[in-house]
Amino acid sequence: MTTLTKTEDKPAPTGPEGFLSVRDLRVRFSTEDGIVKAVDGLSFDVERGKTLGIVGESGSGKSVTNLAVLGLHNPQSSQVEGEILLEGKDLLKSSEKEMETLRGNKVAMIFQDPLTAMSPYYTVGRQLSEPFRKHTGASKKEAKARAIEMLTKVGIPQPATRFDDYPHQFSGGMRQRAMIAMSLMCDPDLLIADEPTTALDVTVQAQILDLLKDLQQEFGSAIIFITHDLGVIANMADDLLVMYAGRAVERGSVSEVLRAPQHPYTWGLLSSMPRLGGDISEELVPIPGSPPSLLNRPTGCPFHPRCAFTDRVEGSLCSGERPLLPEGRGAACHLTQGEKQSIFIDQIKPRLG
Ligand code: SF4
Repeated sequence: MTTLTKTEDKPAPTGPEGFLSVRDLRVRFSTEDGIVKAVDGLSFDVERGKTLGIVGESGSGKSVTNLAVLGLHNPQSSQVEGEILLEGKDLLKSSEKEMETLRGNKVAMIFQDPLTAMSPYYTVGRQLSEPFRKHTGASKKEAKARAIEMLTKVGIPQPATRFDDYPHQFSGGMRQRAMIAMSLMCDPDLLIADEPTTALDVTVQAQILDLLKDLQQEFGSAIIFITHDLGVIANMADDLLVMYAGRAVERGSVSEVLRAPQHPYTWGLLSSMPRLGGDISEELVPIPGSPPSLLNRPTGCPFHPRCAFTDRVEGSLCSGERPLLPEGRGAACHLTQGEKQSIFIDQIKPRLG
């Protein structure tokens, strides 16, 4: 399984633990109102051939983390610290030129909206083959053959003809497939998929997810899969990182986290989403309140203003002391293991069915 080790509160260990090892990542943005701590001490590992799911509400730091892995933050307005080790090489110490070579070659990203990644002015075929030529030095003919091969792999009908189409001539599902083909042109070792199926209908979504799994098996890529949808994660990921307010609050294998979640925020996420195949009349329980401002993070546990279980913790620990994420499987919460278990079994599980 993908190993998730070390807490975000400990100094970065020496040496990489996975194919991708992120250590104590901190991303800050300067704004007119002050410094936004979008990611505040995050560590995780992803192995080759495995998928790490990252879940959390908007603003939890999921996408900011992955843009940091890709080196896409503007150095004028942001500060990125920590270590992002890809096969032991620290990407935060790499030059912009090295990062450019890496992007689309070793590391590729699938965005939620293909129109943000594809230009309306160039044919789909050109957008697939030109970066490939740039990265590999292939001839025009070789790049075209590769693009047609990849369009075939992702299930585009008549790929040789569709090669010359513009993105607007593709349906939404086909554009998403074309973008996946684009991201896989150079056999990336790491694929970052940011809500890649959110805009698609359920059938196309299932097809794209199956396709990603098949391609991962074929290419052995590591995948970071960002979503707010735990149903998709159950289907796609080996391991799971739950993020809240720029920090990891729970982690473990997908089955551990989904079968016996330990953090009140994870309970909230699970209770607020419809279950696949569940009764459509079942009541969904939204998490009360909204995510905190990252300009002014609450003291102690950042979830305490929204948490229904602070009275189960002694004194004012929840608002006074930040809970740490333990090594390996666990949750950053002051509740005892026994309390976590009994609340989950008595109150949360019946709700989830
Ligand atoms: Fe809730 Fe306290 Fe646990 Fe935070 S530490 S999740 S406020 S019980």
